[in-house]
Amino acid sequence: MAHLVTLIPGDGIGPEVSGATRRVLDATGVEIDWVVEDAGASTLEREGTTLPARVLQQIRRSRVAIKGPITTPVGSGFRSVNVELRQSLDLFASVRPSRSLAGLPTRFSNVDLVVIRENTEDLYQGIEFEHGTPEARQLREELLRLSGREVAEDSGFTVKPISVTGARRIVRFALDYVRAQGRRRITLGHKANIMWFSDGLFRSIGRVEADDQPEVAFEDVEIDQLSMRLVRDPAAFDVLLLPNLYGDIISDLCAGLVGGLGLAAGANLGWEYAVFEPVHGSAPDIAGKGVANPIAMILSGAMLLRHVGEPDAAARVESAVDAVLADGEARTPDLGGNGTTDTLAGAIRTRVAA
Ligand code: NAD
Repeated sequence: MAHLVTLIPGDGIGPEVSGATRRVLDATGVEIDWVVEDAGASTLEREGTTLPARVLQQIRRSRVAIKGPITTPVGSGFRSVNVELRQSLDLFASVRPSRSLAGLPTRFSNVDLVVIRENTEDLYQGIEFEHGTPEARQLREELLRLSGREVAEDSGFTVKPISVTGARRIVRFALDYVRAQGRRRITLGHKANIMWFSDGLFRSIGRVEADDQPEVAFEDVEIDQLSMRLVRDPAAFDVLLLPNLYGDIISDLCAGLVGGLGLAAGANLGWEYAVFEPVHGSAPDIAGKGVANPIAMILSGAMLLRHVGEPDAAARVESAVDAVLADGEARTPDLGGNGTTDTLAGAIRTRVAA
């Protein structure tokens, strides 16, 4: 039976890399029933919203989606579509693997990391108060009353909630992931020495849950120290488990370790729905030029294939990417070549179909 998949092409380079990805996945021979839905800048113009309700309905119907990057419209009053999707569909876990690919000139050749990021809480939950508003003033007064601490009068606020429930489910997800994928170890990143009741809570839940599963090695490290150690010796780490903000930053750092954003794939997973997407954004600086690297989205597609129970096809896509990169074929400018999105995707497609 064909797999029903919602495809959101996205903004900027999104349609270019989405089209390339769809052609590569189709070349595997796996039957996919694609339903294409727009979201982002195009629907904002046409329908006055970046995330029409029917897009969410369609993802709920198909349960699996893959999306290109979406531009966050600044100052339009609309929140990031990515954040909306993650919260509305309760996609609480972001999984972003980074591994060294043969033939690419990077500082390290032995990187094999997975970032697991809590996706719904923390400073990205979206609770903010603009400086100078009555709400910000009221919050400041309340903070003074509750904590005895005075905050500067012209402060803006972003709230950082981390819950027992939210922390526990992502820690359990990470422990399950390590066992299911045959990985070795979890390193939990935090800043618990400063933020006792948010990061400190995340760390203590990590420790308690990990104690129950001694077969998975577990350590926790302060996020600044973790950043320094990662850029010196990334092979010392395996699975990184992080609250939302640190997870966002560290996954870009890990992408940089293996050749850049053009190669970094990702998945947003919940108990019911899964949305796959590259780590990169809509890259307005190169949009429409046909030179975007499609590999990040193609590898996100391979993750999708594995998720829907097509591991052989997923492995064929990944091996095709490895082989094309190792051969130095059709590289796009971000990889030091002068290939185009279509020539690079075409080379991958040919190997997948072979
Ligand atoms: P970006 O990832 O779009 O671009 C950063 C740099 O990386 C640019 O120089 C760009 O050309 C390059 N780059 C990114 N992807 C590439 C690819 N596939 N091939 C070659 N080069 C690539 O980050 P940004 O400029 O900070 O963000 C642009 C827009 O994208 C913003 O509106 C941002 O909010 C949005 N964004 C969306 C997502 C998402 O949809 N998941 C993620 C990040 C950023």
